[in-house]
Amino acid sequence: PPEPAAESVPADMPRVREDEPTAQALGYRHAASDVDQARFPRFQAGQNCANCNLYQPGADASWGGCPIFLGRLVNAAGWCNSWVPKV
Ligand code: SF4
Repeated sequence: PPEPAAESVPADMPRVREDEPTAQALGYRHAASDVDQARFPRFQAGQNCANCNLYQPGADASWGGCPIFLGRLVNAAGWCNSWVPKV
């Protein structure tokens, strides 16, 4: 079988916690529908980690990597204030 890509994201990395400081500062939520739009007016319905340019799809389809949260997994359906459209 082919070797896994070096950049592949292991499914067993810890998940970001919504209450950790960076997540709080950026309004990260595991479900984009839970984003506090009053605090984070950049959020637009339809945006999520899976369609963010920083998202790194992982071995688990529901969770992937993100350079904002190094070493942890973010949810494909999540969102944070650093969302940028896929290029
Ligand atoms: Fe999700 Fe993008 Fe924020 Fe990373 S930068 S947590 S992929 S929305």
